[in-house]
Amino acid sequence: MNILMVTSEIVPFAKTGGLADVLGSLPQALKKLGCDVRVILPFYKMAKPVVKKALIEHGEISIPIGNERIVGSTLESRLLKDIPVYLVKQDAYYDRDELYTTAEGDYPDNAQRFIFLSQYALEACKQLAFKPDIIHLHDWQTGLIPVYLKTVYADDPFFRKTGTLYTIHNIAYQGLFEYELFEMTWLPHSTFTIDGFEYWGKMNFMKAGINFSDYINTVSQKYSQEIQTSEYGYGIDGVLRTRAHRLSGIMNGVDYSLWNPESDEFIAENYQSDDMSGKTQCKRDLLKKFKLPLRSMRLPLIGIVSRLADQKGFDLIERILPEVMTMDVLFVVLGTGDSKYHALLKDFARKYPAKIGVRLGFDNALAHKIEAGADMFLMASRYEPCGLNQIYSLKYGTVPIVRATGGLDDSIENFDPATGNGNGFKLQNYNAEELLATIKRAVECFRQPDVWQKIVQNGMAVDFSWDASAKRYLNLYHQIQKLH
Ligand code: ADP
Repeated sequence: MNILMVTSEIVPFAKTGGLADVLGSLPQALKKLGCDVRVILPFYKMAKPVVKKALIEHGEISIPIGNERIVGSTLESRLLKDIPVYLVKQDAYYDRDELYTTAEGDYPDNAQRFIFLSQYALEACKQLAFKPDIIHLHDWQTGLIPVYLKTVYADDPFFRKTGTLYTIHNIAYQGLFEYELFEMTWLPHSTFTIDGFEYWGKMNFMKAGINFSDYINTVSQKYSQEIQTSEYGYGIDGVLRTRAHRLSGIMNGVDYSLWNPESDEFIAENYQSDDMSGKTQCKRDLLKKFKLPLRSMRLPLIGIVSRLADQKGFDLIERILPEVMTMDVLFVVLGTGDSKYHALLKDFARKYPAKIGVRLGFDNALAHKIEAGADMFLMASRYEPCGLNQIYSLKYGTVPIVRATGGLDDSIENFDPATGNGNGFKLQNYNAEELLATIKRAVECFRQPDVWQKIVQNGMAVDFSWDASAKRYLNLYHQIQKLH
């Protein structure tokens, strides 16, 4: 089966979050199942050090954007030698320091950048003579593609048998743009309706993806239910409810060739479940990195690696940290994002230098060191479509403390001292007192080495490799094919 993935991020070419990790690993798992998978994305500045020289230059394509024609070209690279990755070179749009947003706000031409990508991806299929059975789309940046297929390309024999799957990785980012930019798309006006992708007078690219794709899925079972409610649906829960018969949840897998304490090249010492001595070295190394006192080695160390966004629960953390700082607990935080959280974390680091270490920025090696060196990993998310860090944490014997939402709820089982079952600690409600109580529960267990050992081992035994989830995607692709 021929699959084209259209995305705005993929490890190792461009990453701001979990979407990139998923794209870096799902294609490999599908390839193992016999699919011919190819990926297309913009050639951002961030990807340039990774792709110093393209394997093949496929030439130019010109795309109408409003009254202009914008020319790009297709460069071919590879993911792990055998998955073609096509990078769309259009420097005026993509050769920038960030992917979507700077400290001053979103790039003002984000609509044009992704209208261009959407049309380009379809034209590139022709350029490459690659006829996809399925075009698999990811998040708002690719939401217009099924609209083009159902209108501009409706009678094009090249795409006659092409089906579409739209994956929602985070419903809070919908790609909302002023109606004045509609003319940039060259789409027929009939698509700008309440049943199309009009949303309160604006264009909503995610709504386009939902309404025009054959099938829709999200990245965990629980999140696929949550987004159909007004609490989690960010205004488009009704749209999803009308398409519920075409909506499913498939839990993300993770790439254990990158995230595994037995082989991780970023950590101080490798370790495995039957010999955890290396983890102690990793903890020592982490304390040194954050200039926390080594005499505190015996204290539980809680790690956070996160985008600093409202989604991630930092308002709760702000409320509980003063009390947590009076407890025998250490914190390390790595993150970047909202400036208000940068200020907050800097402030805590200044007030409690022996208790909390903060690094503001994006640092993949340090993210690995935190997974390995921390005792616990905190994700107090307001919502979490899937979440990857808690899954990495399980593998590293770093016990997750999570809020029971989305993929966090699906992947973490609350520890039950009576049965010895469970691999982490969960709070149900988005509430500071509950968060504090849950951390206290975890710290209490940490003080009982036998109990702690059990929780750690339970987590390390869980398997979230892609094998099972990739099969679910393949089944879904087959279902979609039957529609064409
Ligand atoms: P989201 O996609 O909402 O950001 P996920 O948990 O699904 O959250 O994925 C986050 C991914 O991004 C993980 O691989 C995590 O290690 C990585 N990450 C997030 N922030 C940073 C950072 N500041 N430095 C390095 N890696 C980060």
